[in-house]
Amino acid sequence: MTKYIFVTGGVISSLGKGITSASIGKILESRGLKVALMKFDPYINIDPGTMNPYQHGEVYVTDDGAETDLDLGHYERFTHTKTTKFNNVTTGQVYNAVIARERHGDYLGKTIQVIPHITNEIKERIKKAAEVSKASVVIVEIGGTVGDIESLPFLEAARQFRLDVGYQNVFYAHVTLVPYIKASGEIKTKPTQHSVGTLREIGIQPDALICRTEESLSEELKEKISLFCNVRKEAVIEARDVGSIYQIPLVFKKQILDEIILSHFNLICKFSDLKDWEKNVVGRALQPQGKTKIAIVGKYIALQDAYKSIYEALAHAGIANNCKVEIMMVDSEDIEKKGADKLLAEASGVLVPGGFGYRGIEGKIKAIRFARENKIPFLGLCLGMQCAVIEFARNACGLKEANSTEFKLKTKYPVVSLLAEQEKIKDLGGTMRLGAYPCKIKKNTLAFKVFGQSLIWERHRHRYEFNNKYRKLLEKKGLFFSGIYPKKNLVEIVELKNHPYFIAVQFHPEFKSKPDKAHPLFKRFIKAAQEAKL
Ligand code: GLN
Repeated sequence: MTKYIFVTGGVISSLGKGITSASIGKILESRGLKVALMKFDPYINIDPGTMNPYQHGEVYVTDDGAETDLDLGHYERFTHTKTTKFNNVTTGQVYNAVIARERHGDYLGKTIQVIPHITNEIKERIKKAAEVSKASVVIVEIGGTVGDIESLPFLEAARQFRLDVGYQNVFYAHVTLVPYIKASGEIKTKPTQHSVGTLREIGIQPDALICRTEESLSEELKEKISLFCNVRKEAVIEARDVGSIYQIPLVFKKQILDEIILSHFNLICKFSDLKDWEKNVVGRALQPQGKTKIAIVGKYIALQDAYKSIYEALAHAGIANNCKVEIMMVDSEDIEKKGADKLLAEASGVLVPGGFGYRGIEGKIKAIRFARENKIPFLGLCLGMQCAVIEFARNACGLKEANSTEFKLKTKYPVVSLLAEQEKIKDLGGTMRLGAYPCKIKKNTLAFKVFGQSLIWERHRHRYEFNNKYRKLLEKKGLFFSGIYPKKNLVEIVELKNHPYFIAVQFHPEFKSKPDKAHPLFKRFIKAAQEAKL
């Protein structure tokens, strides 16, 4: 019998429900259980693919090509679960499916309502995720904050779920804030009481509270929260701010949250201590030996979440190289105004991430030229590869007007352009080259050294491709095409010789990096950046 954990959030947003869910997954996985994690997003978009990163943060792409919420990235980084299109469900998807069935005549004669039709569809999707993953525990994170109008159908479905599958098979964990009020020097439990009160009005009595706090919670305070919220005292879990997100599973483990959940489920599992994770991930993340500074030249720099997986992949590479990676966010539009030499002078490595649209492009191209000419390690991702190609065509091959047709439709030298099959597509949602594709790596290249194998699978999210018409010319001038998607002969990796580390890829390696297994492109990049500094 599959077990289900629902993770809700109260008081304010951004309390870390995603990391909480992922950490619960981690501690249960360490006990030998197969876990799956899924996220409900209460917005009406079908997926976040068409949203601006400032609205939503990064769009995380799964192997099967779903454009999903960035929390799925946490799920994959903390656990061994593989997320798919079944692991992220939005209000838009749920209504879309129900309305399509209504039009088809499947509910003939009936009035379609939120309860039971929408809630049934939500429950079906939970069961589908359980079935596809074959997990013994499915963790369901409900986006938004308790009290929001939008998330009500999801909470209602979560309430009903316990009736459907049995009391002992469902566990409710509620993430809440216990703020410290500086002026009075006190920790306040009232917001938590209110938030749990709202949850209970909906019919959900939490089994555990994950209390986000800046200060430690005394036994007395825990007792108070326990009494007012009707939650056993040992299930009032303190989640104090920590130095690394990868510590959270250890924090939960120390407070035996795994045991609390397992005993609710009546499960007896092998013991485990997370010692490896503690030593090789947390220990190294908190006590690095060296330090290196990496400039990320992007345009969504004001929002922490916009490049989430890239920050994490850099942190993993830091863990692997035993060094702290300091990130310098550089606005590519500032480079256009002030010049790359000024803004990148302190960087030991330059990373140009993915993106869309012309704004900031010329700054990215300048940054790449600076890295290429000054032999500063460079890693280009997706749009970063396209910009590297434009830069090389313009400044090393004399094609001054080289561009991508994304930025200038009638450019004289379209070194990056659309494939004929993409030109026909009119809809924007879900129509890019998405998900995992194979890439064949040529021997005796930097890419081969980095990956140590000749066939890799990496995730994509882009519409434009390198234009093969220019391959010969660029290669003659020294840009090497070391990775190819064989079926369509598309360029996946470009690199330079006579440079300590200059490599750019059409895919998104950041999605597959893990804290205990840094992605090789990032690992080598940080190694090169460290060596460049010596
Ligand atoms: N805008 C480019 C394209 O669509 C790059 C996309 C990206 O960087 N994710 O091809």
